[in-house]
Amino acid sequence: MIVEIAEAAGRDSVDGLVAACFGHPGLTTWEVRADGRRFVAVSGDEALVAGDPETCAGVIAVHPTTRDGYWLVARESGLRYDVQVGGVHVGAPTTGMWLAAGPCAFEDEADVLRIAKQVRDQGAHALRVGVYKPRTSPYNFQGAGRAAFASLRAIRSETGLPIISEVLDPHDVHALAEVVDCLQVGTRNMSNQALLTALGGAPVPVLLKRGAGAPLAEWIKAAEYVVAHGNPHVIMCARGITSFDTATRHALDLGAITAVKRATGLPVVFDPSHSTGDVRLVRAASTAAAAFGADGLLVEAHDAPHTMYRPGDGPQAFPPAGLAELVETAGRVRELVEAADHAA
Ligand code: PEP
Ligand code: MN
Repeated sequence: MIVEIAEAAGRDSVDGLVAACFGHPGLTTWEVRADGRRFVAVSGDEALVAGDPETCAGVIAVHPTTRDGYWLVARESGLRYDVQVGGVHVGAPTTGMWLAAGPCAFEDEADVLRIAKQVRDQGAHALRVGVYKPRTSPYNFQGAGRAAFASLRAIRSETGLPIISEVLDPHDVHALAEVVDCLQVGTRNMSNQALLTALGGAPVPVLLKRGAGAPLAEWIKAAEYVVAHGNPHVIMCARGITSFDTATRHALDLGAITAVKRATGLPVVFDPSHSTGDVRLVRAASTAAAAFGADGLLVEAHDAPHTMYRPGDGPQAFPPAGLAELVETAGRVRELVEAADHAA
């Protein structure tokens, strides 16, 4: 339950509301702001709510969650989120596809810097690069971790590109947010609620990948966690889901792009690299995602994939030199489909 309170409501009104309606130990309350409005969020069984919050001083409205269990990010809430990475809007009002590209993992400063310059010169809006790598096997390279932070700072200042990097541990959120511009939640952590809650306090936006086995409503509720804990800047990233069929690495969850855009006001981007696992499919997957309304792309790009520490990710690495054409093709297809839908 989300209770909207007046901007001018004083501490007395809020404390009065909490004491009168939410004093039960089974209920937890906290204040949250979204889209310039002020709310008291309530966790716990609604049957434990005493009295009628609507009648308390300072209360504007009581918003029950949707059937699927979220409200702040729901399109029907009417709240709008202006999500920017390094000053660039993701989705409206930016026109054209937003692009983040770069290597899977940080391995070597000179390599990442070289690739960062290439992706910047191809028009990328951000560099993606992982310093904490969530590996399915403990025997794979786990990322450079804090040892790479100074290099990230140097690369950011030399290229001017904002950086997106994955965080695995709630304790690393603030330190990593000092050296990057957007924190990624990977597919394996989409339902790590401790991490999502910590990201609610992050000073940078969050790129939230869909769990490979997560139903749409769970993915949206994961975004609600971040927003409800104070960070309204969430980008949804579709990246394929587990299927009985392994012709591509994952089954492309393209319909989910449209569904999330309809259900929420959040920007939605697509990862054509981890979804297909095959560089030869990256253009087709990007273009298809654009046709489904994706606001942008998160692409693994490397100019010498055979040198990567993890050869398994090499076959999906897109050549940086092709990124401008990739985004231009995808953007054109999106425009064509939008125009035809509009005319229909
Ligand atoms: C990544 O983007 O580097 C990554 C590990 O992706 P995913 O979480 O989608 O597997
Ligand atoms: Mn990868």
